[in-house]
Amino acid sequence: MVEKSKKTKTVAVVGAGVIGAAIALELQRRGLQVTLIDKGEPGRGTSYGNMASIALDFAAGSGPSTWRKIPRWLLDPEGPVWLRPAYALKMAPWFLRFIAAGRPSRLREIEDAGMSLSNPALGDFRTMLASIDASDLMTDEGCLAIYETEAEFAADRGRMDFMRRYGFDFDVLGGGDIRALEPALSPSIAKAVLLPNNKTIRDPYRLVVRLADAARGLGASFVSGAVRNVEKSGDGTSVVLLESGERLTVDTVVLAAGVHTRYLAEKLGEPIPLETERGYHTQIMQPGVSMRYSVIWPHRAFMITPTAGGIRVGGNVELAGLDAEPDFRRARVLVRHAQRAVPGLKVEESSEWMGHRPALPDTIPIISPSSKMPGVWYATGHGHLGLTYCATTAQLVADMVTGRKPAVDLAPFRIDRY
Ligand SMILES: Cc1cc2nc3c(=O)[nH]c(=O)nc-3n(C[C@H](O)[C@H](O)[C@H](O)COP(=O)(O)OP(=O)(O)OC[C@H]3O[C@@H](n4cnc5c(N)ncnc54)[C@H](O)[C@@H]3O)c2cc1C
Repeated sequence: MVEKSKKTKTVAVVGAGVIGAAIALELQRRGLQVTLIDKGEPGRGTSYGNMASIALDFAAGSGPSTWRKIPRWLLDPEGPVWLRPAYALKMAPWFLRFIAAGRPSRLREIEDAGMSLSNPALGDFRTMLASIDASDLMTDEGCLAIYETEAEFAADRGRMDFMRRYGFDFDVLGGGDIRALEPALSPSIAKAVLLPNNKTIRDPYRLVVRLADAARGLGASFVSGAVRNVEKSGDGTSVVLLESGERLTVDTVVLAAGVHTRYLAEKLGEPIPLETERGYHTQIMQPGVSMRYSVIWPHRAFMITPTAGGIRVGGNVELAGLDAEPDFRRARVLVRHAQRAVPGLKVEESSEWMGHRPALPDTIPIISPSSKMPGVWYATGHGHLGLTYCATTAQLVADMVTGRKPAVDLAPFRIDRY
């Protein structure tokens, strides 16, 4: 039963991806009257096709050890990062900021900030799933990071140091132990690191649908339409303007439109360097092999994930902007790599997908009040970790909006750091 005060505060949440849907649910649960708005259906943006991993250790920032790999990655046509030449110039300012964020002093601050979200993420996720009776959407198994050679393992030392520094549980395994855990893996995999607390969501799209449905079940409404702008009215309320001409007057607005939040922020006079890191997946419905663990291959920077609808192979980063057509050769390269790690993997019935990670150059999200318009809040820029951080982001936004002290210091996530 949701308790409502005499004058229920109204809030519009723009964007029904995993971030917006989780926020809508939490705000409705706390007694606000929520309208969730999306230009399409809930969960059909980037949250549809991610690699389904609660990837707590991904809070490791991108410092000099990453930069050193980038030239090799960019030159390798089968490598994990592609930059379309036509987009290189447009990308330059973002890239300079990315390099600046990796200098050692700043890197430590970014990793501390990332860990302040990673630490509560799994607990918050479990609570969120239990609250909508969907605990079965998360598997119990962890994730295996795999290495074909000692050199690959040595090259990933930075991540191991990071995990030790922040007290992660992990086990380093050799040949026989790896196959005992995951018989589908090739004997050519020489080493693996088991990350027991990185969990997998069986169906990331279904998760968003369940969150949005649960918010509606508590009384939230859903509006289908593209938001064009937000304006302030004289009485302090905000007016959300839709492309259709419709206007929605509310007390509070949360902008959670993934990478598209950039355009709304620009209109509010606070431009943010939000770029798309495009990523691909292949969903293999008849893989001919079954797996228990999600697998990440750090050297090749992609994942193989057992999901409700078969095995999903995906990852990589393509820097080409929002408008360029997908280039599904990227997805096929990953399938070939996956077949090397999982020799029994067959690709008989499959589908391909591309999505836009909302990426900020310092790799941590914006979870923040607007610095220009009172009553407007941002939750965007979750990059590679939107699924991982959705439940924690929802708690933090709901705390800010309802005037509670957030459990995490949100200073590092402010929009005015740009
Ligand atoms: C290949 C790949 C693998 C990934 N793997 C993982 C992983 O394993 N673990 C993890 O934690 N993260 C992963 N991610 C990242 C994660 O998917 C994203 O961080 C997350 O989905 C972002 O969620 P979001 O709600 O911010 O954006 P979205 O899911 O894109 O949702 C934004 C919504 O806003 C709507 N919208 C946009 N503009 C407007 C407008 N003007 N008006 C109304 N609605 C609007 C869109 O229609 C969309 O539904 C991966 C991403 C990719 C691409």
